[in-house]
Amino acid sequence: MQISCLEVIRELSNYIDKDVTPELREQIVAHLPACTHCSAVYDGLRNTITLVGDGRSFQLPAGFSQRLRARLTNIS
Ligand SMILES: [Zn+2]
Repeated sequence: MQISCLEVIRELSNYIDKDVTPELREQIVAHLPACTHCSAVYDGLRNTITLVGDGRSFQLPAGFSQRLRARLTNIS
């Protein structure tokens, strides 16, 4: 039985919290390496949770992306 991307993405946060059935867990484990889309969502979600879990909030300073973009423009 194959699990769909929609189901994987819907269950990803539960999966990370280890709050899924063993059957569902196995299906997600099998799906992730085979699907770049779901694995990208998984990586993003896991990184977010890790940062929050560390008790540190992670925020780019205001104007950071604009300054970075300006610098990159100057280089090229
Ligand atoms: Zn997928």
